[in-house]
Amino acid sequence: SAPTRYAVIGNPVAHSKSPWIHARFAEQTGQDLTYEAICAPIDDFPAQVAAFFAAGGGGLNVTVPFKLQAFELARAHLSPRATAAGAVNTLWMADGRLHGCNTDGVGLIADLRRLGTRLAGARVLLAGAGGAARGILLPLIEAGCARIDIANRTAARAEELAAAFPAGQAMLRGSGYADLRAGGGWDLVINATASSLDDEAPPLPAGAYAAGAMAYDLMYAARPTAFLRQAMADGASATADGLGMLVGQAAESFHIWRGVRPDPAPVLAALRKLLSA
Ligand code: NDP
Repeated sequence: SAPTRYAVIGNPVAHSKSPWIHARFAEQTGQDLTYEAICAPIDDFPAQVAAFFAAGGGGLNVTVPFKLQAFELARAHLSPRATAAGAVNTLWMADGRLHGCNTDGVGLIADLRRLGTRLAGARVLLAGAGGAARGILLPLIEAGCARIDIANRTAARAEELAAAFPAGQAMLRGSGYADLRAGGGWDLVINATASSLDDEAPPLPAGAYAAGAMAYDLMYAARPTAFLRQAMADGASATADGLGMLVGQAAESFHIWRGVRPDPAPVLAALRKLLSA
């Protein structure tokens, strides 16, 4: 029989590394599948998803700008992670119904564990309150962080985000950057803003990094982002960009679809080489 079709759907999507990553996972696990990139017209996402699955497609990864629309389409069958994230990056059919999950947060946690970052009891500073920040909050709470301070340029969005997670009320706090405690001493600082796209860093207070602290930028690039350069100058002990999170979320989607867990480490190493070439 023909290999099952998978794809990432977005707009734009030509730059996506997902087809490459999933092709490596399929080789590694011996799974018979194809994985392509679909650029959907902005106003045609629901019809494209319906057509993909009607033709026997096995699963879709969803990227910018369709994660909220994917959430709406799968509203009747969302995983707890998708519900918490308010967005869906993984779609599949089961019993003739469309299901949705969000694997971004799990991908981040897996990458932090790979890097040896201690999460239990950690004091975390999360910069940004957009879709990416929302997507990683529940997994961070579940990983046992002691406290999560959310800071955002638009303070009200950080306050709203902190209030949206009843499970973590005692340990969550949202504010603007100016209202962060000076000399905060965070063990883990995560940049979930889009500021690195403008080669800018979020305005963190002096003394943000505790001894042994990790700085993690969700964005990935061939060279250190402005946030990571700032973190090194400010005394962070370790830095990482979001390439491992990207491979981690792909591995989790692959597991949902195929029931097989690929090893992300060799794929991440090869992708890093490719990016820096
Ligand atoms: P959103 O548009 O939803 O949110 C953008 C966030 O960035 C907001 O908090 C916004 O603040 C803030 N921001 C934008 N520009 C600046 C600036 N110059 N200074 C300070 N804050 C700024 O984007 P997403 O949450 O979807 O994505 C954020 C980043 O995460 C992107 O760079 C994306 O590439 C990355 N990402 C990486 C993933 C991975 O697998 N590695 C997965 C998902 C996302 P305000 O509210 O004030 O506008």
